[in-house]
Amino acid sequence: MSHAPISRRQTLRVLAGLAATPWLLRHGRALAGVDYPFTLGVASGDPTSDGFVIWTRLATLPLYPGNEQRLPATVPLAWEVAEDPGFRRPVRRGQSSALRLNGHAVHVELNGLRPGREYWYRFIALGETSASGRAMTLPPATASPDSLHLVAASCAHWERGYFSAYRHMAEERPDLVLLLGDYIYEYSLPSDSADRVRRYGAPEATDLAGYRYRYALHHSDPDLQALHAVAPCLATWDDHEVQDDYSGPFSKDPALARRAFLQRRAAAYQAFLENLPLRRPARDSNGAPRIYRRLRYGDLASIPILDGRQYRSRQPCYVAPHFGKGHVEAASCADLRDPRRTLLGFEQERWLYDGLRRADSRWQLIAQDLLVAPLRVPPAEAGGEARYWTDNWDGFQAARERLLENLQHSRVANPVVLSGDYHSFWANHLHRVAEDPDSPRVAVELVGTSITSNGPSYEAIQKVLPANPQVRFYDSRQRGYLSLRLQRQALDVRMQAISDRADPHASVATLRRFAVADGDPSLHDA
Ligand code: FE
Ligand code: CA
Repeated sequence: MSHAPISRRQTLRVLAGLAATPWLLRHGRALAGVDYPFTLGVASGDPTSDGFVIWTRLATLPLYPGNEQRLPATVPLAWEVAEDPGFRRPVRRGQSSALRLNGHAVHVELNGLRPGREYWYRFIALGETSASGRAMTLPPATASPDSLHLVAASCAHWERGYFSAYRHMAEERPDLVLLLGDYIYEYSLPSDSADRVRRYGAPEATDLAGYRYRYALHHSDPDLQALHAVAPCLATWDDHEVQDDYSGPFSKDPALARRAFLQRRAAAYQAFLENLPLRRPARDSNGAPRIYRRLRYGDLASIPILDGRQYRSRQPCYVAPHFGKGHVEAASCADLRDPRRTLLGFEQERWLYDGLRRADSRWQLIAQDLLVAPLRVPPAEAGGEARYWTDNWDGFQAARERLLENLQHSRVANPVVLSGDYHSFWANHLHRVAEDPDSPRVAVELVGTSITSNGPSYEAIQKVLPANPQVRFYDSRQRGYLSLRLQRQALDVRMQAISDRADPHASVATLRRFAVADGDPSLHDA
């Protein structure tokens, strides 16, 4: 583990430096003997040109559901931001509290910092000092930066493997980390599962304590801690932060009452917001958090990050035996093409399309959770009628039509869609008419496999690719992530694959490389 506390002498030196916080010394002494509380690392996120969020969550080992009961209900805490990793040039200090009410998570929204530069931050509580993290402010909105280095990840089932992919993402020292969903999984594998390399050690998460425990376990991982400590992230969710295949207010389980599912969903959303470094979100009239938002990296890139779960219509073709589960559905199911159905919710659609119309940056990186490109299982492979997987944009084809139409009509420059969920690498052309490769190309789409989760059958999807020429590359046999180097004239895409998810020291290699040039929504081998 990487959470070895720094020495008592170092801690005292840090505390002595915090002349404004004598209460902390008192409190630290009063609670001397409490175990090291910074076992879950630190993180930063949602940067702007004058600040970012810094995050930590106090927890002592061993972790188990309800573990926050072992810390006081209110723990005073100090934080510090400096211009150098040694904290010799501090620029901000402040005090906060870690509350049991929030699972002892702490979010500090910083502002008033200088644009386009690195900072380091750390926390002090209970006489101990956290590891320090590096974060960056964005360039001024009016700046014309030359480059942006991003990494994108999704789908990290704890039990399926070690987080080597996160470690290799950290080693790139990117400017920004995109987290595109399934950051945790709510379910545990059966005990006889052949590829279980470590254990959640708890039954399926269905309540606040259960979800909190899963985030705590993930954040105790040294590779994930390294990633969060190296760069700010921009995170959204997919289904497994709540429940497999849920859709808006609808559980996949028809026996679960809507009200009970909404309670479960609210607990899951609360745990997500406690455990990822987002700004405090606006709430709608039902108290639900709005997490879709936009980041502007000077005039080089605009990054809308979407919520593809909260506002969805019910899963399409909701009949026995599937009900709300994702499944392969015949093209004749009318829901697939019903324009009254939405994946983003009509309000988020308006917000997105409005933003596209007004965008003036060179690139639009549309970060979201689900595959946009169609994948048609042709009649010959599907019993005489074409079929589609229903849980992604193929289940919401009229909504996808609106997205593609808006990408074209807004004339937005260089849209690139970055997606998660599919546990496989994809590089796709998005055509104006999704399934017509002769219609104009309006965007490219990239999917960065999974950190650990099982990929779909390689052979089964290879078999239908001839009927899907929009898919330029597909491979489900590797775990890993996307590494993206954006410049004004081109985007360089590397599909990074780790050697073995069961090996905590797995190496990384580039599986495929693509280039996208300014002004041409096409994938080229690089
Ligand atoms: Fe997943
Ligand atoms: Ca998913």
